[in-house]
Amino acid sequence: MNLHGCALPHCAPPPPAAPPVWIAGLATLRDLLPAASPDLSSSAVARWPAHTSAVCPRCGAFEGPGPAHGPYQCGICAAAPPPFDAARSLFAYAGDVRAAIVATKYSARPYPVDAVALRLHEALAGLWRDLIPDGAHPTVVPVPAHPWKYFRRGFNLPALIASRLSRRTGLPFDPLALSRTMERVPQARLPGSLRHENVDGAFRVPRGRIVPPAILLLDDVYTSGATAEACARALKSAGAASIVVVTVARAVP
Ligand SMILES: [Zn+2]
Repeated sequence: MNLHGCALPHCAPPPPAAPPVWIAGLATLRDLLPAASPDLSSSAVARWPAHTSAVCPRCGAFEGPGPAHGPYQCGICAAAPPPFDAARSLFAYAGDVRAAIVATKYSARPYPVDAVALRLHEALAGLWRDLIPDGAHPTVVPVPAHPWKYFRRGFNLPALIASRLSRRTGLPFDPLALSRTMERVPQARLPGSLRHENVDGAFRVPRGRIVPPAILLLDDVYTSGATAEACARALKSAGAASIVVVTVARAVP
């Protein structure tokens, strides 16, 4: 018998209807959009959860729960080592971390540069203390923006963070070690499979510029690794001996 008292099969209540396609689409779109007004205060940044579980010691890929800095490289690095010596990302590119970057890049909200530089400094002194050999003083080099993007936004987020990190750590800072010559399509619009080709040859060391032997390459987000690899290839072909890549966040599946 159904809820309204009738036992006849033809009187059974209809199954719940699926939501219209356009409503389902709106739900997906809402998931992709950043929080309307992320908290960008220093105290909020201090609460962002750092990734402290195991990573690939070469490319820094998050490996899930377990002891940090496992001894084995991931399968990708074992098959084809990247041109940089190591990479680390402090946060997963999700939640408030992602919302802060998106709000800065696309809504012109001021990024909490000081607070993020502090978190990176703390990581270099603690969680990532083995990343830079004792006595080494790598030069902090930001991944440059495409000139048109810089003109449109008026700033390059990796350069802002790199500058503050340099000030905090005392490491040298060289925002002009690399220049960006081209980008066919913004990386953020491309799937991972096309990103390497898109930035291949997009970075170069300006003619006559002396490249520091040890470099800390800083970017805001590590996605496919294509940008970091293209920068590292340009720097190494110009004479850099060691390159560690540090990014604020890392894209997670
Ligand atoms: Zn790896």
